[in-house]
Amino acid sequence: MSKGNRMIDYTDKSTAAKIPATFDRHNRLLESFTKLQEVQEYYKLGQQALEQGLGVSICHLGCGICCRVNVPIAMGVEARNIISWALGRGPLFLEGLLDRCENWLISADGPTHAREGIIVGIIPRKILGEFQTLQGSQCPFLNPDTTCVIHGARPIVCQAFGVTRDPAPICPRPLGSGERRDLMAIISGPSVDALRRKVQLMRQAASEGNPAWGASGLLPTMLLAAGRPERLKALIAENRIPSAKLLMVAGEYHGLLWQDQLDGARQGVPGELLIEHDKGLETDGIDRRDLERAKQEFRQLV
Ligand code: SF4
Ligand code: SF4
Repeated sequence: MSKGNRMIDYTDKSTAAKIPATFDRHNRLLESFTKLQEVQEYYKLGQQALEQGLGVSICHLGCGICCRVNVPIAMGVEARNIISWALGRGPLFLEGLLDRCENWLISADGPTHAREGIIVGIIPRKILGEFQTLQGSQCPFLNPDTTCVIHGARPIVCQAFGVTRDPAPICPRPLGSGERRDLMAIISGPSVDALRRKVQLMRQAASEGNPAWGASGLLPTMLLAAGRPERLKALIAENRIPSAKLLMVAGEYHGLLWQDQLDGARQGVPGELLIEHDKGLETDGIDRRDLERAKQEFRQLV
């Protein structure tokens, strides 16, 4: 250490008061990233367990069908994680990614027409219908060669497809032992309980760190909100973005991660009831043995 440097006593209250608030914010964001990475690792283990059990890969290279019918929902913390990952690939890559989001947001293509700004409170039926149609349209991060632009940091709802929610009937991957095209295997039991707890802890940490990290919405919107907030505000002020693309839920996650949510959605169960169900899970007692179980267990629906 050079003579000019001084040690800082962080236990000294007068010094602590000078530590910028951003220090705490960065720590909380790091904590949320760590929890998100744990969730992503658990999903990878779930995928490995399935592949071991089935004897086939659970994604067919060069397919991309699920990405052609899905614009993912993501939380603010996931958007920030993707931005951090994209920055690691270079500023130009990040700018290209954000341009892609901006173009998608202002695009006049597709089912979204109503421009009534940000909807607060009860969502008009027309805009909700546009949102649902939009969610089932092609993801803007799908490349023409069927690769995903953000594969290394893709949202957990993308990882969940075929792992904790069944990919039938659209997925054409090879069938494993005992599977049928309309009844495909997913993981379940203690490994899924552990995963659900991990997701819940991640959501909790993100929401407590900052309401914007815990909010969820369509991924391109969440990315622009995180990466170019002033630009997003300007586009909204100019009324250039359809309202359906701006729908966000604070402090909750409304993507379909779990089979019971998917079954409920297929049967028309309201989203709020499914969210309540998800909230009822315990938040502690995570057992490292769950990791081993996750490797070994999988369920076949037949
Ligand atoms: S539909 Fe199935 S095989 Fe095709 S990309 Fe999605 S998970 Fe992979
Ligand atoms: S983010 Fe990637 S994996 Fe997810 S739907 Fe879009 S292209 Fe597919």
